[in-house]
Amino acid sequence: MAAPHDDCIFCKIIAGDIPCFKLLEDERVLAFMDINPFNDGHCLVIPKAHAENLHAAADDDLAACIAAAKRVAGAVERAVAPDGINLVQANGVGAGQSVFHFHIHVFPRRAGDGAMLNWRQEPGDMARIGELADEIRAAMG
Ligand code: AMP
Ligand code: ZN
Repeated sequence: MAAPHDDCIFCKIIAGDIPCFKLLEDERVLAFMDINPFNDGHCLVIPKAHAENLHAAADDDLAACIAAAKRVAGAVERAVAPDGINLVQANGVGAGQSVFHFHIHVFPRRAGDGAMLNWRQEPGDMARIGELADEIRAAMG
């Protein structure tokens, strides 16, 4: 497992050095309440192995996190009956990441809550979309 990072707040939570409102724990993942919740029931799922973001995380840990997020989201659904749930995951400052240990937000939504996660759907420029698909496929390796 990746070594804990001394300056990582989520590694400190995993180690038990900082308290959390724990929801679920197994050998790979931990889920706990977000202490700055946007809506009631906002919580986080993290791998125990430190990885800064999606790019750095091991596939097995990502699989464990998404399975745990599904379980936690089901419980949030039953516990607080939100109007919907987004899974949110930020990579990099430009995406709004503020804690640099991979995490999935289980993000309950309420009608009209004003969360800035959704965007208008307007048709794009198909030629440009096709070019970008070519570039991304080429980058896939
Ligand atoms: P992000 O901005 O996507 O990196 O999300 C980081 C999240 O971690 C924020 O929603 C914070 O409220 C949350 N957070 C930071 N420190 C703690 C903590 N000690 N316990 C629980 N949640 C935390
Ligand atoms: Zn960490």
